[in-house]
Amino acid sequence: MPVPKRRHCPSRQGKRRANWKMRTRLTVPCEQCGAPKIRHRVCPSCGTYKRELVINKNA
Ligand SMILES: [Zn+2]
Repeated sequence: MPVPKRRHCPSRQGKRRANWKMRTRLTVPCEQCGAPKIRHRVCPSCGTYKRELVINKNA
């Protein structure tokens, strides 16, 4: 039974990986202060998550 030697050639692998950085780190505007923040993470500028204060930035 024939078996493929490798899945894809190195150039094809590189073409796929060329888009990695564009897709990762999707940011959404914070619902509290409007600053860009990473999804499902505490906002780095005001320290809230789901409108609830998690990290007190003023203290
Ligand atoms: Zn915020």
